[in-house]
Amino acid sequence: MPYAEVAIDAPAGRPTYSYGVPDRADVSPGQLVWVPFGPRTVRGVVVAVTPESSHETTRPITSISPDIVLSPRQLAIASFISSRYLCSLFPALALFLPPGVERQSEVVYELAESYGDSMAGLSGLESDLVRRVREQGRLTAARLRSGDDGAGVQTALASLVERGVLVRRELPHERRAGPRNEFIVYLTADAQHLTAERAALSKARASRQLQLVEHLIARGGSASSGELRATIHATPATLRALQSRGLVQLEERRVWRQTLSTCPTNPSPVPVLTSAQTAALEPIVAALDSGTFSEHLVFGVTGSGKTEVYLRAAGHALATGRQAICLVPEIALAAQTVERFVSRFPGRVALLHSGLTAGQQFDEWERVNRGNADIVVGPRSALFAPLHRPGLIVLDEEHEWTYKQDDVAPRYHARDVAREIARATGAVLLLGSATPDVGTYHRAVSGETQLLPLPDRIGSTVGLPPVEVVDMRDELRSGNSSLFSRALQSAIAETLSRQEQVLLFLNRRGTATLVQCRHCGHVFSCPRCSVALAHHAVRDRLVCHRCGYVAKIPELCPRCRSRNIRFLGIGTQRVAEQVKESFPSARVIRWDSDVPAIERGGSGLRDAVRGGHVDVVVGTQMVAKGHDFPGVTLVGVISADVGLGVPDYRSSERAFQLISQASGRAGRGVQPGRVVVQTYEPDNYVIQSAASHDYRAFYEAEIRYRREAYYPPFCSMVSLMYSHPDEDRCRREVERVHGTIVPEIESTDLRLTGPSPAFVRRLRGRYRWHLTLRGSRPGDVLADLGLPRGWVVDVDPASVA
Ligand code: ADP
Ligand code: ZN
Ligand code: ZN
Repeated sequence: MPYAEVAIDAPAGRPTYSYGVPDRADVSPGQLVWVPFGPRTVRGVVVAVTPESSHETTRPITSISPDIVLSPRQLAIASFISSRYLCSLFPALALFLPPGVERQSEVVYELAESYGDSMAGLSGLESDLVRRVREQGRLTAARLRSGDDGAGVQTALASLVERGVLVRRELPHERRAGPRNEFIVYLTADAQHLTAERAALSKARASRQLQLVEHLIARGGSASSGELRATIHATPATLRALQSRGLVQLEERRVWRQTLSTCPTNPSPVPVLTSAQTAALEPIVAALDSGTFSEHLVFGVTGSGKTEVYLRAAGHALATGRQAICLVPEIALAAQTVERFVSRFPGRVALLHSGLTAGQQFDEWERVNRGNADIVVGPRSALFAPLHRPGLIVLDEEHEWTYKQDDVAPRYHARDVAREIARATGAVLLLGSATPDVGTYHRAVSGETQLLPLPDRIGSTVGLPPVEVVDMRDELRSGNSSLFSRALQSAIAETLSRQEQVLLFLNRRGTATLVQCRHCGHVFSCPRCSVALAHHAVRDRLVCHRCGYVAKIPELCPRCRSRNIRFLGIGTQRVAEQVKESFPSARVIRWDSDVPAIERGGSGLRDAVRGGHVDVVVGTQMVAKGHDFPGVTLVGVISADVGLGVPDYRSSERAFQLISQASGRAGRGVQPGRVVVQTYEPDNYVIQSAASHDYRAFYEAEIRYRREAYYPPFCSMVSLMYSHPDEDRCRREVERVHGTIVPEIESTDLRLTGPSPAFVRRLRGRYRWHLTLRGSRPGDVLADLGLPRGWVVDVDPASVA
């Protein structure tokens, strides 16, 4: 009997387990299966079929899911993800599974064979449960629990199983979503026959049948059952009646659910490339023609024509018989990109993201899998779409942290996985950004990535808008303590008087954590680590997340002796209120993560702004991303410092990106734009370089800091976070692991920091402490550490606060 090595969907001690292959079953690597694991039935993916078992005793595979087989390439990428991100194999494999596949088995209860009819000794609830199971033969736990108090039912069921009355079983359960079929209804009668039948129906007062026939005639003889139901509420009974009269015929067919990608659009004209675009495209085309892996960074501000380069590159990939993936940082932005791809490549684009219904996701996935669509657009998960011949992978706005999955394993970064896929398939990896990730730009400087600059905005003679840096300390000194500086206040007034639009935004991340002197701008930072201290509201202390240093909140500023110390943190709401107060007739809207993604990404807000129904938009950095609002001529950054002191080595990079993107929003139309940046630290290199639109200057300063302080890209980083409801036990466990790592890293280049409390010290009732490991290969030490449950390992975390 052959054996299958299976990666299973359960916290497991080993990468794979051995299972017997049932007689005559055809099992190959990549196949999705159900297997027994302890008392449970769990999902698994077969990674190898062997003549020998790796265990002494093996149980057979419970069942094999038809049609779902991961390719050898997908298996290899999953194994890369699992070793790179130190996670078990199954979650990495699961990235490639089609949407709608059931991961949980179904728990059912049946009457035990040995059990008779007696209800003796059963409580009221118990006998009720037994009666219901007996009537149905078998009932799911979910059905049995519904209606009653769930906990009581659960206890009763457990007790019934214990006493041998009921048997609990876990059954494989295949899909939550599948293909949708409908009937096409055709009129079959000829004209003469029809006239007679209509008269007959009318006489028989079969008004519903008559109405249906009339409708079909009006529709040229056929319509779908779905449409008939929606428009004239046709019932299956009416359809059957007409069918038996021989008047209509039904034909079943698959209907593909509609998404943006299947909506017809008007093809927009294809522009003639600028010389910069032509120069950028040339090496991409050459790489696509050669069919070998290469990596490029399109470096240009918003509006410089990057998307046009992606579109041309995708066109060339298709022309060479290959396919393309275009990743966008968030769902809300997918819509715009999808529209541009769909209008260029009608019918060939698929949209994949979690905002679609399960059915839509299933259909889009199938269109890709069948080769009906050969361009996939979506957020990071779209990377795992079943394209058979990828030739191009684009990451638009490659610096965005949404490309890193950090809430569940595998905690992968789409850029790294995309690179691995591109390497494995000889595809082109195309990154695009106006403010590249410092690590990516470092690769460009060292030649690993080819830099393709698009220095100018398309069709713009004015270039980037001038940025005015306002020193908020001066405002205070002259008695203005409002949120708006005088410069911003008058800029808003002027803009509104010209009937142009204003965009005001602030950085929500890090709100109310940073402590700063309002008099001199001093940000309280750790004496040992040169990172800002975070304010921990729970203990009312300042804490360093690098080394664990804790301090009281000082009463005086150590630099200028002022008592004017405050916690930074302003919400969009307060800014919006301030606008209404200062400009009562202005139409103001808030746009931040409280507004649902669908509304942001769909038409609502975007159209309101673009259609000029709004004068002032107040938002978080989300607004700064990707949207093109031609009417906006003034952008105000309320407080550029908020991002700067977040206790994370990447905080400068984030602040730079934020200010730059904000500038990119101003003056996208015919009117020139301007930007006002309010700050308490006007001399900071981040503010200075962002105000002069000088990425290179920022990069040079930043990379020097990273090299000196030994941060990525000069090392790799792993965050080890442990959480426990009890803080003492939490800290002790982290100290224990700290103690086991220390001797392991003695003769290596690894550096261990911590234990220290996490930035969010208590989350959902659990305390969190962490360690950070830095070095060239920090994963090696951790691979055989065997961390117990409760630990989260995050390789190259998006934030280390
Ligand atoms: P980015 O992706 O860098 O923001 P886009 O590709 O969206 O830039 O280009 C900005 C605008 O200029 C879009 O409206 C686009 O249609 C237009 N555009 C792009 N390339 C050209 C070109 N070569 N000639 C004319 N218009 C162009
Ligand atoms: Zn001060
Ligand atoms: Zn410190």
